[in-house]
Amino acid sequence: MVTITGLGGFREVGRSAILVEGSQRFLLDYGLSVQDLDVPAKPPAQLDGVFMSHAHLDHCGIAPELYKRGYAGKTYGTPATFELMRLMLDDELKVHDKRAIQPFFSPHDIDTLERHSQAAGFKKPIHFRQATATFTDAGHVPGSAATLIEMDGKRILYTGDINFTETELMHRADDNLKDIDLLICESTYTKGDHPDRKVLREELVNHVLDVVHNNGIVLMPCFSIGRTQELLQIVADLDVPILLDGMGMKATSIITNHPEAVKDPKRLRKAFGKARKVRNPQERFKVLGTPGVIITTAGMLNGGPITHYIKRLHKRENCSLYISGYQVEGTVGRTLMDTGRYVNEGLDVKPLLDVRFRDWSAHAGRTGILNFVRKVRPKKTIFCHGSWTQEFAREVTDLGFPAFAPANGDRFTV
Ligand SMILES: [Zn+2]
Ligand SMILES: [Zn+2]
Repeated sequence: MVTITGLGGFREVGRSAILVEGSQRFLLDYGLSVQDLDVPAKPPAQLDGVFMSHAHLDHCGIAPELYKRGYAGKTYGTPATFELMRLMLDDELKVHDKRAIQPFFSPHDIDTLERHSQAAGFKKPIHFRQATATFTDAGHVPGSAATLIEMDGKRILYTGDINFTETELMHRADDNLKDIDLLICESTYTKGDHPDRKVLREELVNHVLDVVHNNGIVLMPCFSIGRTQELLQIVADLDVPILLDGMGMKATSIITNHPEAVKDPKRLRKAFGKARKVRNPQERFKVLGTPGVIITTAGMLNGGPITHYIKRLHKRENCSLYISGYQVEGTVGRTLMDTGRYVNEGLDVKPLLDVRFRDWSAHAGRTGILNFVRKVRPKKTIFCHGSWTQEFAREVTDLGFPAFAPANGDRFTV
């Protein structure tokens, strides 16, 4: 018998953390809600292993706190996840410091986590006393993994964040899995499907060429892991100057050292080589007169170098702001989307530049999740990491696959 308890991220998106208890006790992810800083319930410090699905903070953002509380065991992840996680956690501390938020852990705790990190590749079983864990490719962002736990005669698969559509950057997730007793599946998008990437790509290419032809600059605020690299690769195929700035630049540099984490490492390396990199803040002023593309953070406009560029370019009609990611409620990007106004750092304006929102999601859409369930045929499924998990679980149950949507704190047994 194995018991699953959602500590966070059930019937919600954010603060993912799942406790798996049988003969041994494991923790899957330990993240925080980046916007409102909600944290999951605390797991016991006596754990036999912790697994990080990927380096997004809603999955790993509070992991060092485990060590602060006395956990002395290992944390497992892919090599790319660990290196990207360090970047994200260091930045999280900086952001919290800037916003005068009491930190959840110290740099010392990140060091401790790093010392206890054990990297594992896809399909390489990790053996425990009475259990085995195996990562498979989740196709979400570089390094992302689904985790298969085999314990007490049960096979439990946790998707983390997952994508079954091949992108310009990533292979599609591995769905060659069978005899699953319990699937714990993310369900961020269950209401519909994302637009076709080829169509998005073509529109983006034409848009960039148009803007640059009119001596303008395309500002691309991008999530640093995944989106930055994907759009960089596309733009690098064109004959336009590219500037790379902020966290995305650092993340790209890390990912180029992990060829196993992307579909075409040569293409990424070439694109990265083609982009000019911002090494000091003065350079951000020099580029404002040059037509081209600027790829930078933050993806939801809340901070980072993008605020500098918007401040200086928002009145230029020949420029554009191309927003490629989901905008969480309460962010500057979401306000812009809902009201058409850019409200940030003392500025409240209706930008004159061309503002576009496009859905380049790195998550599976509705069809992707349904096809996955149909292919894997799990005995039971739990949906998490979504806002409509209960109704989706009912729908999937009606299709003949028993599905559930427990709340945080509920204990679920297989
Ligand atoms: Zn993610
Ligand atoms: Zn997530």
